[in-house]
Amino acid sequence: MNTVIDRLIKSRTLFVATHINPDGDAIGSLISLGLGLQQYGKRVYFYNESPIPAVYRFLPGVELVKQTLPPKREWDTAVILDCGDMERIGEAADQVHRSPQIINIDHHVTNTGFGHYRLVDPTACSSTEIVYRLLKQMHIDIDEAIATSIYTGILTDTGSFRFANTNSAAYVICAEMVQCGVDPYTVAQHVYGTYSLGRIKLLNMALDSIEISPNGKLSLMTVTHDMFAETDTNPEDVDGMINYAKRIEDVRVAALIMENANGADQKRFHVSLRSDGTVDVAEIAASFGGGGHFNAAGFGVESSLKDLKKTINAIAENL
Ligand code: 5GP
Ligand code: MN
Repeated sequence: MNTVIDRLIKSRTLFVATHINPDGDAIGSLISLGLGLQQYGKRVYFYNESPIPAVYRFLPGVELVKQTLPPKREWDTAVILDCGDMERIGEAADQVHRSPQIINIDHHVTNTGFGHYRLVDPTACSSTEIVYRLLKQMHIDIDEAIATSIYTGILTDTGSFRFANTNSAAYVICAEMVQCGVDPYTVAQHVYGTYSLGRIKLLNMALDSIEISPNGKLSLMTVTHDMFAETDTNPEDVDGMINYAKRIEDVRVAALIMENANGADQKRFHVSLRSDGTVDVAEIAASFGGGGHFNAAGFGVESSLKDLKKTINAIAENL
């Protein structure tokens, strides 16, 4: 922790980035750390390759996040948050890789240990928990904007305090964030309470797509480009849908195949995996070049849909 803080203090300009198709923890850790460093007097470039999902656009400071790199590298330090490997930040990875200093802040068990400095703690419920500790140690004031991002990161990464990564820090930190001015009802309304009609229609199709392996231990949900087109939705609208497939009784692993949203590359898929706590899906995802946590992981793959379904059904046979 102290060497990371030293590095942050010595930096003048920082590039802060998180993974593509960001979730609440990715965006929450990006904004909370970025705002904290700004308060400390640093110049900060906030970066995420993907558009910010609609449900997170209420976060104070969200307008600072840019989808493009500055024309030339002006930062002395890059901070990569909530990424198991550098490539998770997307196409900028090649360029960011050449940063003079790279700090890796993450909580994935499969973290590759990239970067010159690391704060990787798989026991942390979320990357925002690690950012919280960092800001505290730097005596940065957790104002309402920073608190909202930390709260949202913890809330979403713990599945509203239901997933196995829910620890006592999740409750302690969130209680403190409420004291800092966060209104839990307002956050919940934005994150879970207001969806587009298209998203609800997409949920209907996704539920309808569920298939169960012959031994009943694996459920498979599929979201295709055509479904996105028909409902006028995007990958961000798929967030959380896999949990329906995971809830089915006797299912140990749920998989969700998501086809590239724009349909330009019909053979590129993202696969999400969730476990009921008895199977290490991080290991399965890693065997396909991805990663994640024991109970929640994912990977990208090039295949035909038919072959991919076969590959995933083969996983079921070993459960
Ligand atoms: P999701 O299924 O929601 O996309 O991701 C579940 C977990 O696995 C998240 O913690 C996410 O960061 C991780 N994950 C998803 N896809 C990949 C991937 O392609 N590579 C790696 N290393 N991790 C991934
Ligand atoms: Mn996370």
